[in-house]
Amino acid sequence: MKPLEQLIRPNIWRLAPYSSARDEYSGHEAHVFLDANESPYNTPMNRYPDPLQRELKEQLAAVKGIPANYTFLGNGSDEAIDLLYRCFCRPGVDNVVAIEPTYGMYRVCADINDVEYRPVLLDEHFQMQADRLLAACDAKTKLIWICSPNNPTGNDIDREEVLKVINTFQGIVVVDEAYSDFSKQRPLRFELPQHSNLVVLNTMSKAWASAAIRLGMAFASPDIIGIFNKVKYPYNINQLTQQQAMKALEARFDVDAWVQLILQERSQMMTAFRQLPICKEVFPSDANFFLARVTDAQGIYNYLVDRGIIVRNRHRVQLCQNCLRITVGTRNENTELLSALRQYA
Ligand SMILES: *Cc1c(COP(=O)(O)O)cnc(C)c1O
Repeated sequence: MKPLEQLIRPNIWRLAPYSSARDEYSGHEAHVFLDANESPYNTPMNRYPDPLQRELKEQLAAVKGIPANYTFLGNGSDEAIDLLYRCFCRPGVDNVVAIEPTYGMYRVCADINDVEYRPVLLDEHFQMQADRLLAACDAKTKLIWICSPNNPTGNDIDREEVLKVINTFQGIVVVDEAYSDFSKQRPLRFELPQHSNLVVLNTMSKAWASAAIRLGMAFASPDIIGIFNKVKYPYNINQLTQQQAMKALEARFDVDAWVQLILQERSQMMTAFRQLPICKEVFPSDANFFLARVTDAQGIYNYLVDRGIIVRNRHRVQLCQNCLRITVGTRNENTELLSALRQYA
């Protein structure tokens, strides 16, 4: 990897961050706080939250097996995605490379930040070839985006190919592991210490059943985390979210049970789906959803909407012609979908 100083935008490298009252004083002994122009009433919500979410990060470190100083917390993974562009990519100058098809936010954030986005098509098994990604890079490529298990295709990306990209590319490789709780593959976040150019994204929105609180994570070297902390809004994670996230972490054995249930349902649902007259192909899944090719994605989508059942129509996505993306729900929800589809004529 190139030295960080050559990868970070020069204005961000030089940036002197805003220093909040809670940054300047963060000890524990004081009991009179007259430093932040807060109201003394309506405790405890009158106080600004911890800008670095230290207590939550310590608890996350225990659950995720990643030290707190390797952790950035954002308002959803979406904040981390946007921050990566703002820290590394000079608008109108730099570019990024990504697998295609994949999660749409990487491209939207590139467009918002006026950064050229270079998609590299997966093969017919939705797999990636490291050499093809690397061939799309030039001296102005700052980030490579890989999502594994990938959305909307559902499959793990070959680990050897991912490691080849990480070991060869001189810039930052972002691996989005939003769905890794559902995969048998060992999460790549455990290999962070060996790879200073790796950023791994996680989220509370999927297996952790907490999409409403908006909490995403980026795991990376302390040097990269330090840059993110400099650029983020001072109080980017509100107090309610920090508290609710700690509650969710306490209930982590519920999460393990939910994941097991979803995996069982996924397997039964995929088997049942293959028997449907409308089904042409069900693609392998390592996530809490699966992609299926059907006879007429738009017609079936509309039919389901009329019955109050919403799936994701991916027909317009490259390599996904006539494909629906189906999230695994409860037994009852899945049964309702399947019986509606059996009646489709
Ligand atoms: C759902 C999803 C996320 C989660 O985003 P949040 O902003 O954390 O809710 C991240 N990456 C991928 C690929 C996803 O599908």
